[in-house]
Amino acid sequence: MTPQDTLTAERADRTNDPDLAGGADAQGSGSTAATVDPGVLAERILAGGEISRGEALALLATPDADVLGLVRAGGRLRRHWFGNSVKLNYLVNLKSGMCPEDCGYCSQRLGSEAEVLTYSWLSKDKAVEVARAGMEAGAKRVCLVSSGRGPSNRDIDRVADIIGGLKEEDPEIEVCACLGLLKDGQAERLAAAGGDAYNHNLNTAESNYADICSTHSYADRADTVDKAKDAGLSPCSGLIAGMGETPEQLVEVVFALRGLDSDSVPVNFLMPFEGTPLEGTHRLTPLDCLRILAMVRFVHPDKEVRIAGGREDNLRSLQPLGLEVANSIFLGDYLTSEGQAGAADLQMIADAGFVPVGAEDDPAYVAPQVGRGAPVVRRRGAGTDVAPNA
Ligand code: SF4
Repeated sequence: MTPQDTLTAERADRTNDPDLAGGADAQGSGSTAATVDPGVLAERILAGGEISRGEALALLATPDADVLGLVRAGGRLRRHWFGNSVKLNYLVNLKSGMCPEDCGYCSQRLGSEAEVLTYSWLSKDKAVEVARAGMEAGAKRVCLVSSGRGPSNRDIDRVADIIGGLKEEDPEIEVCACLGLLKDGQAERLAAAGGDAYNHNLNTAESNYADICSTHSYADRADTVDKAKDAGLSPCSGLIAGMGETPEQLVEVVFALRGLDSDSVPVNFLMPFEGTPLEGTHRLTPLDCLRILAMVRFVHPDKEVRIAGGREDNLRSLQPLGLEVANSIFLGDYLTSEGQAGAADLQMIADAGFVPVGAEDDPAYVAPQVGRGAPVVRRRGAGTDVAPNA
């Protein structure tokens, strides 16, 4: 049985398992997986109600034929709080690779044989230059990231300097730092430098954490999110789906993020780099990704839900449908992998009827026209000696 067969079987089992849906229902709504109507659920949430854990599990069990209905219902929440805008975020990897930690999904981990770029800290000027490209393309948040267990105080000084440089470029730009586990006082120094947010993902459920990392704990990660929040930084924390977690564990981590009061929730889909323990792991279909994104939207109806790493490879041709429930993406490339062209991201947003944050009321905004031109005359297949296109 392939991993996908397993997921499909799990979904079928769950649909008929009232114990699972009811038993996991922390709020005692008594809902079963078979009876959750996402449209009714959306009405309840719009009226101020909440989703239960059992209902979240049921959403993950939505049959393939009903996923568009689920997306449509989640889209009502998305449009209620965020209209048709898409926030663009831009990643700058300040320091790449050579990490002493052993997170199993990460191409920069201890012992990784992934052939990713490795380099030490970018200079302030280089970091600002790289970020400027994203800002000019419409990014409203720059995410300054470094590999490693956590920053030294000297590293905090470097990042504070870069934050200052970015704010000089554009005082309105939001700057989020993602530097690993924070020590006491470091979040306060980032906030004092003008930092707006701090990202530290929980990544997976507490019950699954030991299976993906041995060098730090789930509690360490939650503690850093709390430190950032206490210092007045907007907490940004999310997950990675597709690492072999169960649907129950997906629900567990998504509710844990709600407990942390994360303002933005990046949803990553595993990118199984060669040379890492999870290489070759492809558990998610595009429809699975939509089910997960919709579930996250129902649990975090008024929070920024961001489609993060792995968007292109996991959602594939269904990427634009992801925007119906998520209201945020990364523009362009990721930390160690290339995304689709930034212009293609902007084109996708426009084609799906959305508009980047900041351009909503800008009559001068024109989305790029990618790939538009005269048709390519066929020179293969019938009437030629060249192999047909099939
Ligand atoms: S701490 Fe960060 S950079 Fe290091 S292995 Fe884990 S995820 Fe990768």
